[in-house]
Amino acid sequence: MITLRNIKVWNTGEIIDLRLASTASAFFHEGAAPAEDADIDASGLTLAPGFADPHVHYRDPGQTYKESMVSGCRAAASGGYTNVLVMPNTLPAMDGETIVDPEALGAKEVLDAGYDNVIDYLQHYEAAHDVQLPVRYDLCVCASKGRAGHEATELDHWRRYLPDAEESKDDYQRAHPVTAISDDGLAVTPEILDQVFANVKDSGLYLIEHCEHHDTGAVNEGPVSRELGVPGIPEDTELNIVARDIAKARELGVHVHFQHVSTAISFDAIRKAKAEGLPITCETAPHYLALCDEALLKYGTLAKMNPPLRSEADRQATVRAIADGTVDMIATDHAPHTLEEKALGFLESPNGIIGLECAYGVCHKVLVDGGHISDERLIELMSVKPNELMGHESCDIATLVENFAEPAPTGPGTRKGVNRLLDLNRVESPEDVDLVVLGTDQAWTVNPEQFHSKARNTPFGGWNVTGRPLATIIGSQLMFSRL
Ligand SMILES: [Zn+2]
Ligand SMILES: [Zn+2]
Repeated sequence: MITLRNIKVWNTGEIIDLRLASTASAFFHEGAAPAEDADIDASGLTLAPGFADPHVHYRDPGQTYKESMVSGCRAAASGGYTNVLVMPNTLPAMDGETIVDPEALGAKEVLDAGYDNVIDYLQHYEAAHDVQLPVRYDLCVCASKGRAGHEATELDHWRRYLPDAEESKDDYQRAHPVTAISDDGLAVTPEILDQVFANVKDSGLYLIEHCEHHDTGAVNEGPVSRELGVPGIPEDTELNIVARDIAKARELGVHVHFQHVSTAISFDAIRKAKAEGLPITCETAPHYLALCDEALLKYGTLAKMNPPLRSEADRQATVRAIADGTVDMIATDHAPHTLEEKALGFLESPNGIIGLECAYGVCHKVLVDGGHISDERLIELMSVKPNELMGHESCDIATLVENFAEPAPTGPGTRKGVNRLLDLNRVESPEDVDLVVLGTDQAWTVNPEQFHSKARNTPFGGWNVTGRPLATIIGSQLMFSRL
């Protein structure tokens, strides 16, 4: 049993001792692995509910040279995440349709594993590959067939994957349900908008909207795009989709979640809609808080994403929208690509950067060290709020302590008679306890070469940040450690 002494509960400030049930079978670590009976002085560290990310791209099946379920889930666990929502732009896409072309990219991986549909394959990934993945995950179904934007997906083809579907399911299906609808990478097209919203309403899921539609342009329109000679993307490409979907949420009363919001004008629209009481939520990503389009001059295509990095004024508006609560949560939009692909230039290179392994440090540097929000609020934005969106309850550490903690036995390293001991072997549902251990003021330098992700496409390499996830606990078991 591993014991962490003198760790601070993130929201009550109580200093406790924490005893873990055991080490998970998928456990991995950096540095020396803690001994089985390790007694670790965790003074100065913080215990929080595990992070959740409603926006990751794992490229499996179809482009596993960029990322696989295994490498992507390891990236998540080592970044402090215990729960992620996998976006549907796999190849083939997660649209619920039976694979008809065995020659299509990625089809062979699915068919060889004995499945004829990507959702079934991903639900049973661990069984199909005889591996254990180190993070919990749910799946997102496409809004359109093949994510092509021409035909809405058919609810009858994916209804059986919903969390409350009545059909008998195995443990893998129950563990990885479809919980949202999105064509992420592209906005839902006008031609299928009504049918997609009908599917949202009928299924009871929420729509995750990628708020960006433009036919030309590769970077934010402005002085930087003109300096680079690269066609620009106007800021209202985002607002157009945000405003359209706010109207739909008002008309139908369904929940729309806006991904990676990046412009001041979109935040204004969302602020107004929330004041109206509409069922909308939004996220932004670490890069829209840390960088503006001037980063293109320094980092080249490692700063190319969609939506594009906007102006410095928009970056500041994004920070303000975090501070005033307009932004509900932070998501990474973890988007793995090879450096060869990213070297193709501003017009040809793919959009996006990876984010899972440095999101906390980058956000902590900008938001907490920058004096905009508290440590506690950042944890809400990365853990409590995204868990809530994804339909999961965050671990209520304070209540566990109240209900199950006992006076800690004295011994080396204990503050005699002061700490209570929370032994996760003795709580009521240890399988539900997901936690992260944070060094909130630990300084470190981002080194992509040490990432567990297969990809290295990040502009944050070499950044000095503070705040680091040091251990991830899933189901009361230690899953990852760099303690
Ligand atoms: Zn997107
Ligand atoms: Zn995305």
